[in-house]
Formats: sequence, structure tokens, C-alpha cells
Amino acid sequence: MLGDYKITVLTDGTTPVPFGDLLHGAPRETLANAFREAGETLDRETSVNSFLIDTGERRILVEAGAGRLFGDCCGRLPATLMAAGYAPESVDAVLLTHVHGDHSGGLTVDGRRVFPNADIYLAKRELDYWVSDRARARAKPSHQKMFEEGRAALAPYRAAGRIRTFTAPFTLFPGIRAIAAPGHTPGHSFYEVESRGHRMQVVGDIIHAAEVQLPKPHVTIDYDADEALAAKTRAAALADLASTHELVAAPHISFPGLGHVVRSGAGYTWMAIPYSADVRQVGE
Ligand SMILES: [Zn+2]
Repeated sequence: MLGDYKITVLTDGTTPVPFGDLLHGAPRETLANAFREAGETLDRETSVNSFLIDTGERRILVEAGAGRLFGDCCGRLPATLMAAGYAPESVDAVLLTHVHGDHSGGLTVDGRRVFPNADIYLAKRELDYWVSDRARARAKPSHQKMFEEGRAALAPYRAAGRIRTFTAPFTLFPGIRAIAAPGHTPGHSFYEVESRGHRMQVVGDIIHAAEVQLPKPHVTIDYDADEALAAKTRAAALADLASTHELVAAPHISFPGLGHVVRSGAGYTWMAIPYSADVRQVGE
């Protein structure tokens, strides 16, 4: 429980990521050492997490998983949602931090809406970017497929008039606010959830590899549309999260991806919150 809101973290699956090829800003040896110190290899599996916020009045899903885009590793969100007691039809809103395939792919399977009664919320800048042929022409070669995937994921919701855009900062629902966090994508957004003084921030894709990107926030990843801006946004966000010490919800930190960002030397480290088998109030 976060105040009056019940938060359920849902796994969409886990997938190996070739971090050695994708991370930029530190020598491969430095990266390998950082992962080794954490007991991991450079191609360790990465979680794909979604967050369901049940406000009592609404069921709001943040991130929709990969659907079929990544193969059998992922696309488990509808099943894990059902296991948590929520039918996909009962979801009222899906909030996207951004439109990459592992966040939006699960919206649509075979051209059909997986969440037929939900409005999809994303930043206007984000939608504008992914539907722009000019933006696509300027994007990295490695990002071209993302445009196809993103457009296909959003298409049936656009046709049904179910897309809602905002310009951050923007309050979407009572206690749920979008914050601009550009760089990873142009309209990349955080979602801050607050109830009865308890706060949680869903930070999207500012952290792919906590092993290196917390101690060295300047380390970027090829998935970033604007790597310099992504690094700047990460540095500012980590400083903010370490000072507020609020709960952080991270789509790609190992499931359930809930914890705190803590200062450590010149950088930061991740402290996962203790797991409890009972439904408990956060921080109590
Ligand atoms: Zn992403």
C-alpha cells in the first residue's frame, strides 16, 4: 500500500541484454568489472516490470510490457495481471513513460487492443516524435525498428480515439503527476504517485544497468535517443531521488524494481526495499 493506493508490480518477463555492446561512456573492462563486483556478467537478464495502481476508483497501469515483440521471454503481463486479480478489460488507464517496444508493445497483440477499456496517456512530445517521419529519418539506424513497433502498438488506440496526451508537469489523476524527463526519448516522462503523504516515482528508463549507471550516471545506453540529455536527466533525477528518499519504481531494475536511491561516494547506489509476503504500508 502507498497511502490509500494499492500498488502491484507485475512482471512481463526477463530478457538478456548485451550491455557490453550497448553501454557508452566507460571502457568495456570498467563495465565488466562493475558487473562482476555485483556477481553478474555483462549480458545478465533484465526485468521488464509494470506497475498497477489501484486507487479504489481507478485501475491505472504504468507500462504495458513487450507483448510479442521480444519473443517468448516476455509478454506475460496479461497473465500476471490476471494472477493478481485484475482482468485486462478492467484497466481504466495505461500510462507510458515512453513508446519503446518493451513499454508499449504489450498494448496491442495482432492489431487488437489488449486493454479495450483503457485510455493511453503519454506526453504530446512523445507521440509527436514517434509518428514523425522526419524524426525517424534523423534517428539512429539502430532505432528505425522502434518507430514501426511504436506506431503499431498505438494504432488501434489512435483509431478508437483512446490516446490522451499531456505536457508535463501535468496532474493526470488525483495524486498522479507526470514529470518531464527527456533524453532517453524526447517525451520520456516520470510518473509520481502520492497518497496520504507517501510518494513513489516511476522513473522509466533512466536506469538500465544499476551496476554502473548509479555510481557513474554519465554512462548511457544505445537505446537513448539523445545520450547527452539522457545523462543530464539521470544525474538530476538521481540527486533528487537521493535527497527526497522517496520510493523508486524502476521498469528495468530486477523484479520488483522497488527501492531507494542512496548517495555513495561520488555517485549513488540502489537499496531494494525488503520483501514482505503481506500487504503492508510502504515505509512502515
Ligand atoms: Zn526505453
